[in-house]
Amino acid sequence: MKLHGIHVPHRKNTAQLPPVRIAPPKTVVIPMSMHIGRPAKPVVKRGDEVKVGTLIAQADGYISAPIHSSVSGKVQKIDEITIMNGSKVPCILIDSDGLQTPDENITPPEVHDLDSFIDAVKNSGSVGLGGAGFPTFVKFVTKDLSVFKYVIINAAECEPYITSDTRTMLDRTDSIKKGIEALKKYLGVKTFIIGIEDNKPEAIAKMKELAANTDGVSVKVLPAMYPQGGEKVLIYNCTGKIVPKGGLPLDVGAIVINVTTLAFIAEYLETGMPLVEKCVTVDGSAVKEPKNVIAPIGTTFADLLEAAGGCKEDPAKLLYGGPMMGITAPSADSPIMKNTNAVIAMGKKEAKPPRTTACINCGSCINHCPLRLDPREIALAYKTNDAEALEKLCVDLCMECGCCSYICPAHRPLVQTNKLSKLVLRQYQNSKKEGK
Ligand code: SF4
Ligand code: SF4
Repeated sequence: MKLHGIHVPHRKNTAQLPPVRIAPPKTVVIPMSMHIGRPAKPVVKRGDEVKVGTLIAQADGYISAPIHSSVSGKVQKIDEITIMNGSKVPCILIDSDGLQTPDENITPPEVHDLDSFIDAVKNSGSVGLGGAGFPTFVKFVTKDLSVFKYVIINAAECEPYITSDTRTMLDRTDSIKKGIEALKKYLGVKTFIIGIEDNKPEAIAKMKELAANTDGVSVKVLPAMYPQGGEKVLIYNCTGKIVPKGGLPLDVGAIVINVTTLAFIAEYLETGMPLVEKCVTVDGSAVKEPKNVIAPIGTTFADLLEAAGGCKEDPAKLLYGGPMMGITAPSADSPIMKNTNAVIAMGKKEAKPPRTTACINCGSCINHCPLRLDPREIALAYKTNDAEALEKLCVDLCMECGCCSYICPAHRPLVQTNKLSKLVLRQYQNSKKEGK
């Protein structure tokens, strides 16, 4: 079986540029929902003094993550703000004092076994930093360590423009190695595969050097073929194993972890400083000086664009993430979140949607879908609100990679329709469960 994909322009303009750390902005806006699962619950109130790393919101439930202040300063207010998925969520606004004083209670966690390791990862606030935002600790929870056969380190970074993981590989190689050692020690995994696309020669050299000096680590250089970094695609291309329909990586013995997430975990174990800042690629045709910027979580798009020299023209579209899977930001006041790896500002020409025409039944969308779904049929079922057909067409498996829309000669908005179809199917399945 061959998993399909598409060739997209790489535009890795910033790969050679070491990230620039910016001064803390005047105010950070920190959403309580920066992860998959329940939003965190604020534990601070207006007027409270906080420092860098102070807990400001605790996890609410099992699938959730704590949130820490990314600046030192004072809580200005807690307000409901529209975030990237269009929903309003509580956000903590903190006025920075510009000093970035670390919280004095921060110390490295005491880790001596699997449980204390899982607790540490949970308390670090770590979520999938490659964009997924899934609370990291959940991947490590098990009653039986023998289920973990191998770890795949996701270093594919297959979206155009984004180079923040590339910079992790070049600048934080030592942390990646320490992260591997930690997973060996606490999860008992012996086999590690670093999956990386062949368009990153310097990073490949670094990872091969790391592998040569670390037992059990190999580097799998993969063709630059989007979406190489999709979890199921990467597992297949690194191991030949197919995750069963509706299954999880663990069903084939795999843990998939983003390379920057792994580096962060190692750094947290050493310092105890939770997840409070991000390296973000700032690029797009409207950006004057594309670069990677290290900024406190909650920094707005406007502050990041300013750090990249401002804009050549008024951005017609602002994106969280790359052009394939990125989500439109409501405005330049939108804040970067834990799982933001890029801020893309598109000029008018780049953002202009192509003219949509009728489907010509060419089959390209099916042929290029990595999961071999049928977006053309899905669109028809959506149009007639046929939830049963959507279920049969397995639209719930769609990973929203956008290959179908990209390749469609009629420029049909297929991925957008799939997203809406998934909602229709979810409602149908929920009402079936409730016996309606
Ligand atoms: S968006 Fe969904 S249907 Fe379209 S190519 Fe990706 S996985 Fe397939
Ligand atoms: S790629 Fe576009 S035109 Fe071709 S079958 Fe799919 S929806 Fe129709």
